[in-house]
Amino acid sequence: MKPVLALIGRPNVGKSTLFNRLTRSRDALVADFPGLTRDRKYGTGDHHGRGYMLIDTGGLSGEETGIDEYMAKQTRAAIAESSAILFLVDGRQGLTAADEQIARDIRQTGKPVFLLVNKIDGVDADQASAEFYALGFTEVFMIAASQGRGVTSMIDDILDHL
Ligand code: GDP
Ligand code: MG
Repeated sequence: MKPVLALIGRPNVGKSTLFNRLTRSRDALVADFPGLTRDRKYGTGDHHGRGYMLIDTGGLSGEETGIDEYMAKQTRAAIAESSAILFLVDGRQGLTAADEQIARDIRQTGKPVFLLVNKIDGVDADQASAEFYALGFTEVFMIAASQGRGVTSMIDDILDHL
């Protein structure tokens, strides 16, 4: 069975950008509008002949009413289908209360979690990622999804762990 990786995180952290890079698909909507991808979206990736499946989600905001509730349902469904969670955070914006809430939620699933500190282009990666270690995840990767920085070695490590 191919591993199934769910991209989880609040809106605008770069989930769809990473999805598109890994699947070479333009299907996921990428925009500056938080929460534009409102359904989950599936794609396949290939890393040196090792296949995997990716699920893009609209993102969790912490406030689960209306469209947010629908997105949260999609996200929970994606997590249920996944073999591992790729939890994205924004290394430029820093740690937010929503990140902490999502961290608590996904820890309860018992699935392996890989923390991806995204958008480290143009910033000091170690400094940007330092505060995210407080979330308590041991597998931490610093990436820039829009440029591809750190992405190949991250996938290599993640697939080795599964
Ligand atoms: P999503 O809501 O989590 O799916 O986030 P998107 O993939 O739609 O990205 C939100 C915004 O962040 C877009 O303007 C992207 O171009 C930008 N973005 C994504 N990855 C990076 C990155 O590595 N570096 C920078 N500087 N911007 C990024
Ligand atoms: Mg998106």
